[in-house]
Amino acid sequence: MGIFVTKVKSDRGVTEIKHGAAVIAIGTDVYQPAEYLYGENDRVMTQLELEEQINKGDEKVIKAECLVMIQCVGCRNEERNYCSRICCSESVKNALKLKEINPGMDIYILFRDMRTYGFSEDYYREAAEKDVKFIRYEPQDQPQVEAVNEDGKSILRVTATEYVLGNKLEIDADIIALAAATIPSAGSKEVAQLFKVLWARMVSSRRPMSN
Ligand code: SF4
Repeated sequence: MGIFVTKVKSDRGVTEIKHGAAVIAIGTDVYQPAEYLYGENDRVMTQLELEEQINKGDEKVIKAECLVMIQCVGCRNEERNYCSRICCSESVKNALKLKEINPGMDIYILFRDMRTYGFSEDYYREAAEKDVKFIRYEPQDQPQVEAVNEDGKSILRVTATEYVLGNKLEIDADIIALAAATIPSAGSKEVAQLFKVLWARMVSSRRPMSN
């Protein structure tokens, strides 16, 4: 337990608060994927971008026949060996929203583990009941994405190995949504210096779950 004094400036003047601990919420940024044709094909987007397009009513998204979500993009690997904790719930939320708007849409979620804990577990079950298909992949055998042209139609072809039977699956998607890792916000180093906190410690405290 430390002994801190924080001065808060407001319209009423400066107030001094003595406290034993301080929590510095650094916020997060979203990892910009270098995988799965992100940045090369405008039909590959992050879950956050997908949510924006759903809210805007983008017809390319809400009228898609087939949408594939790929989980754990840019994390739970050697470079970032933590779980971002929120993206499984975000994916399920977006899948349910899309099913509500367009019940006939085929939605596949390619995952390593679905970490929809707490109340989010109910949404996971609801998504499965609404025929969202969950397909597990292994970290050493990640899905592959390629852009192909068939009969004048541009398709995003996803290949993955089905974990239980070991069969190769091929899914032709209109849209791909990536559950991109959360990373420490750009300003976190500066904030760490201001508060004299070790930045590495701030960042490593983002590992509340096992890889
Ligand atoms: S919440 Fe964890 S397990 Fe789920 S996609 Fe994000 S990093 Fe992967």
